This record gives sequence, C-alpha cells and structure tokens, in this order.
Amino acid sequence: MGIIVQKFGGTSVADPQKIHNVANAVIREKNNGNDVVVVVSAMGHTTDYLIKLAKDVTLNPDSREMDMLLSTGEQVSIALLAMAIQAHGYKAISMNGQQVGIITENVHSKARIVDIKTEKLNKHLKDGNIIVVAGFQGVTTDGEITTLGRGGSDTSAVAIAAALKADRCDIYTDVEGVYATDPRIVPNVKKVDTISYEEMLELARVGANVLHPRSVETAKQFSVPLRVRSSFKLDNLGTLIIGVENMEIYKPVAGVAADTSQVRILLSNLPDIPGTAAKVFGALAKNNISVDMIIQSLANNGTNSIAFTVDEDDLAGAIDILELVRNEVNAGEILIDKDIAKVSIVGAGMVDRPGIAADMFRSLADHGINIKMISTSEIKISCLVEKDNAKPAIKALCEEFDLETAEIAVVKGDLPNV
Ligand code: ASP
Ligand code: MG
Repeated sequence: MGIIVQKFGGTSVADPQKIHNVANAVIREKNNGNDVVVVVSAMGHTTDYLIKLAKDVTLNPDSREMDMLLSTGEQVSIALLAMAIQAHGYKAISMNGQQVGIITENVHSKARIVDIKTEKLNKHLKDGNIIVVAGFQGVTTDGEITTLGRGGSDTSAVAIAAALKADRCDIYTDVEGVYATDPRIVPNVKKVDTISYEEMLELARVGANVLHPRSVETAKQFSVPLRVRSSFKLDNLGTLIIGVENMEIYKPVAGVAADTSQVRILLSNLPDIPGTAAKVFGALAKNNISVDMIIQSLANNGTNSIAFTVDEDDLAGAIDILELVRNEVNAGEILIDKDIAKVSIVGAGMVDRPGIAADMFRSLADHGINIKMISTSEIKISCLVEKDNAKPAIKALCEEFDLETAEIAVVKGDLPNV
C-alpha cells in the first residue's frame, strides 16, 4: 500500500456527472489499497470566466485581488468532489492551499511553491480520508493567497506527491497521454508510452501544453514518476514520464513543437559597455517577465542590438519597462515583431550526435523557410520563423526526423492554416 496523488483538470470536473466519474476513479484507486490525495482544477472554464469578469470590472485588475478571485474556482470543485466521494460511502475531506500549508513565494499570479506542510495531510490520510486538495493555489508565510500561473494545478499535484513521497502522480486529462503530432498537422498520430523528464520539459517549454512545465521540473527534481492518462478511459495507462537514465536508446529527435504565442522585441543601438544587458534583463526579471531566446549582435561603432522573445501576454508590461530602461542605458529604438513562431526539435538522443542542427536548418531551407533566430540547449534546437511557416516547418521536420507516426509535435498558440 502506498500513496497515490491524482490530478483532474477542469474538463474532468466540468459538471456534476463528471464529478461523479472522477469520484469513481478516485475510489477505484482507494480500493486498490492506496492512500489517495486528489488535486483538482476549477470546473470547466471557470478560471477563464473569472478572468473575464475581472476585466469587465477594470482593465487593469490588481494582482493580489486577481489571486483572491481566481483561487475561488478551485474551492468550488474540491468541495463538490469531496461531497461526491462521500455520497459513494467513502470518507473524504477537501482542503484549500492555506489549510494544507502549500507555502509559496510572495508573488501574485505566478508564485512558486517553496514548501508543503505534510502534517495535516498525513493525519487525514491516517484517519482513512481521501483528501481533495485545491490545485493552482498557495499561501505566503504571511497568509496572502497566491496562484501558481495558468495550468498550475499540475504543479500542485506533483509538489504534493513529492512532499508525501508518493509512489506516483497521475495527471488525468481529456487526452490519452502525451500525444504524437498534433492531428491537425500530421494525421494518424500515436500516443507515446514513455518519455523522459528532460524531453517532456523541453517540449513543455517550447509549446506542449499537456503539462505545466514546472510540474515536470518538480517531478524530475524529486524523481516522482508521472503518468499522463485519460480520465475517461481508466484502464488506459497513458504516458509514463521518468528519468532519462531509466530509458532505452533514443532516436536523435523525439518530438517537434511550435509556439506561436511569443513576440520578438529588438532594442537597437545599445552602448557596447559592461552592464547594459544586465540592466535590460535585470529590469525585466524584477518585474517577473521571462525572456526566452536572446541574440546580441556584434558591436559596430560602439553599439550593438539585442533581440529577444517574450510571451505575448507580457508584451505590454515589457514595453513599459523597456521604455524606462531605454532612457537609463541610452538605447535606440524598441522594435516589435509579432509575426513569429518558434519551431523546436527535442530529443535526449541529440547529445553527442553532431549534425542534427545542420539537418534541421537544411530541411527548413529546402522548404524555402527563412530562419530569423536560432537557439540551442543540450537536447533542443529552436528556430524562429514567420508564423505562416510554422505548419510547413513542423511537417518538414517530422519528415526529416522520421516522426510521422510515433512521436511528438505539439503546438502552443494558434497555428495559421496555410
Ligand atoms: N484553474 C487554473 C487554470 O485554468 C489552474 C489549472 O487548471 O491547472 O489555469
Ligand atoms: Mg491543465
């Protein structure tokens, strides 16, 4: 007998009937002889609805009040699920982030979990309860309610699994696992049975929205075996995400992904002196704006330019900050390019295999696709291309690396149909 943490997303608890289905899945695990902690998201599109509601009240809602508002969504679903489990004759108790003691940093709207108290969880489990925990939320050490960022319930579940030293964390969702190519792009896709944390992490960062990236990071850090599985087909084992050391030999490329939700910002004529980049990116970081690809040009006549990408949601905030920094560092213009897509190939098998980048660039070139920016990590190569080229690029790369049927291509943002 062990501890299993289950997580159900918004679509799985969208209505009373579905809540009962979830209750059945939970009870099934309990009947296997396990202690069960269930983490749930808000019902259906509740979070979207609450965000819209706030925006209808004011265009610029305060982030503390946003967290107060958004955290209510999960409080509804935990209570309803606990009631449903009780109605089936099992002991259940719901707990919000504060009651559990899911301690986060003091940041609103995308706080990181720093600690999870296990005393109350262990006590309730010992008393025979199934515990239903509100995902996506936490509390600071001085009692302020925080949220973890959209999709954050996955991270809540994995962090709880790590804190309780659970045997496994099962992320139940409306797909049957980590899927191959987006069916809109390459039909006849297959589900992947096993993938490494490292690959999943890169895929999640570059656009896979199956899992919240921090959930995979946390699973990797604490070696929590993670399963993505269907909440409608309970016998299906889905996709298991584990450490790369436990896996077989790789193809060089395990997946292809596209992200059309970023924008490129170019800062021109920056003085070529120490501290300029530090000031620019320091100011963005201080305001919690993550920067993705960065390129600095070679200095010419004492100046250079820096281009980088941010999430389009952060664009307005980034421009405000950059306007201030621009005066401080004496920079030239700020230019915005919204017509971009980041196309990436990911694979743990790339390590120590030269030539993969060249193959990628040649394949794009053969299809007449121009590359605007390039970045690489140990197991990932990303190219920025025009938005309209995202789909042809995915097709070309799937073909180049033999990924038509069995591997992964995931897409974040809207993909222009060309
Ligand atoms: N309810 C939150 C959201 O919609 C958190 C989650 O679903 O994981 O983003
Ligand atoms: Mg989700």
